Amino acid sequence: MTKEALALEIIERLKKEYPDAGCTLDYNQAWKLLVSVRLAAQCTDARVNVVVQDLYAKYPDVNALAAAPVEQIEEIVKPCGLGRSKARDISACMKILRDQYGGNVPEDFDALLKLPGVGRKSANLIMGDVFGKPAIVTDTHCIRLVNRMGLVDGVKEPKKVEMALWKLIPPEEGSDFCHRLVYHGREVCTARTKPYCDRCCLKDICAKNGVEE
Ligand code: SF4
Repeated sequence: MTKEALALEIIERLKKEYPDAGCTLDYNQAWKLLVSVRLAAQCTDARVNVVVQDLYAKYPDVNALAAAPVEQIEEIVKPCGLGRSKARDISACMKILRDQYGGNVPEDFDALLKLPGVGRKSANLIMGDVFGKPAIVTDTHCIRLVNRMGLVDGVKEPKKVEMALWKLIPPEEGSDFCHRLVYHGREVCTARTKPYCDRCCLKDICAKNGVEE
C-alpha cells in the first residue's frame, strides 16, 4: 500500500473509532485557546483547563489580561509549570492582540507565528480549531503514531513531520485527524507502555504492529 493510500485508510478507521474527537483544551473564545496552548507546554490539558478558570475569573477579556501585571498572571498559572515564561508570553501576546488586532486573534498563520510563545504546532491548532482551516498539529502523539504507523520513516523533527503529512493528508482532514491521533495515542498506541496493538483498529495495516521499538 502506498503511504497516500495508507493515510486515507487510517483516516477512515480513526473516524469510526473516535467520531467526536476534538480539542481537549476547553475554550469558548479564540484568545482563550491562545492562552491555553501556551500553558499546555509540558503540562496536561486537564490541568490547564482547571488553571484557566482562575485566570479568566480574574481577567475575563483580552483587555483585562493585557493590563494585568505579569507577576499576577504568573502567580495564577504557575501550577502549569514554566510560570514565568508562560506569564510573560501570555501578557505580551494579549498586548499585541489589543494593540494590533482590535482584541481579536489574527486569522493568518504567519501572523500567529509572530506572536510570543506561538510555534507551528500552536498556530496550526488555532487555524484548524478556531478558523476551520487546513491544519496539521504535530504534537508528541502525532509524531510517535505516524512513525509507528509507517506514514513517515524515522522523522522526529516536528516541522519535517508536518511537511511530510501535508503531502499525505487531504487538507480538510488534517485538523480532525490530528485530534484523533491524540485520542488513539492516549488510549491504544501509548507512549509509556507497550502499544496495545492487539486491540488496535489499525493492527492489520500498521507498520509497527508487533515490532519491538
Ligand atoms: S498497531 Fe500498534 S503500533 Fe500500530 S497504531 Fe495500533 S497500537 Fe500503534
